[in-house]
Amino acid sequence: WKEAILNLKPYQPGRSIDEVKRAYGLKEITKLASNENPFGCSEQAKEVMKNYESSLALYPDGNATVLRSAVSKHLGIQENNLIFGNGSDEIIQVIARSLLYPGVNTVMASPTFPQYKHNAVIEGAEVREVPLADGEHDLDGMLAAIDENTSVVWVCSPNNPTGRYIARDALVDFLRQVPQQVLVVMDEAYFEYVHADDYPDTIKLLEQFQNLIVLRTFSKIYGLASYRVGYGAAHSDLISRLDPAREPFNTNTIGQLAAAAALADQEFIAYCHEMNKKGLAQFYDFCEREGLKFYPSQGNFVLIDVKCQGDEAFQFLMEKGFIVRSGNALGFPTSIRITIGCPEQNLGVIEQLTVFL
Ligand code: PMP
Repeated sequence: WKEAILNLKPYQPGRSIDEVKRAYGLKEITKLASNENPFGCSEQAKEVMKNYESSLALYPDGNATVLRSAVSKHLGIQENNLIFGNGSDEIIQVIARSLLYPGVNTVMASPTFPQYKHNAVIEGAEVREVPLADGEHDLDGMLAAIDENTSVVWVCSPNNPTGRYIARDALVDFLRQVPQQVLVVMDEAYFEYVHADDYPDTIKLLEQFQNLIVLRTFSKIYGLASYRVGYGAAHSDLISRLDPAREPFNTNTIGQLAAAAALADQEFIAYCHEMNKKGLAQFYDFCEREGLKFYPSQGNFVLIDVKCQGDEAFQFLMEKGFIVRSGNALGFPTSIRITIGCPEQNLGVIEQLTVFL
């Protein structure tokens, strides 16, 4: 177990904008690599940041009281159904710290968001990876991987990096079959981008399934990735069980207030949702024109098979000023994952990809 930790690689966020500018002598860089919101965040959140006057010498509110109240009202759940974290990354870590240890196993899809496995390895749990079936979770395969030593099952919907999702009936059917003592983590980092009609209302499912936790974040459509605010919603007993494993002052003051303000501006969210749908269509049209395979996505990114090593396309685009994510690092070696940008950014990267192909 300790040896497995020594073999872990630190998270590779890719090269920074400044580094790429210097390396290739570029003035303009478009980063479409980390599924951030190209439209930034709500003006109301910016106001909070501009006008923030309290002392930075004071610790933040460890209970995230204002944000807790705002999120509980927004979702129609109680305040004690929520846990906040330094990004949903921290909630993933808290779940692993609380429930994973040597002797238990944990089940997840592959490829999926790598932090589930990373944290499970750190805690010494056995990792059971069930291959995706055509980009989607193989829920039957995941059920078959569960045994009496399974502690946590991770489900990512929409899945990073494929953008595929789990429909309502399939999810409910799955939850009914997972033993009650096994925690199901439903990571919905891209929830607000979903446009499928049969996507489940997972918050409603919390009443029925007390072994379910839903993770969401202010890093994606809310455009506040640098403030690091994410949360988990679950039965209050489960929240109490997880709460001791988080850091006492895990979410910062401005992040809490900016997130609450961003939540209040659903008009901005609706705009970003629409623009993302249009951006996805730009990429779908391009793929169809070029005869490239892609996964129709419910997130703000699209995985495109470029019919050569993803690293090659990644390198070409980087030299032209576009940072995307190579599929080599994501378990799809002949693909690249592109975050949906604003229309001009999408056109720009499509233009360069056409040259590359
Ligand atoms: N889950 C998924 C599926 C993600 O893609 C990401 C971000 N890449 C996260 C969780 C973590 O997001 P954050 O910590 O910024 O909330």
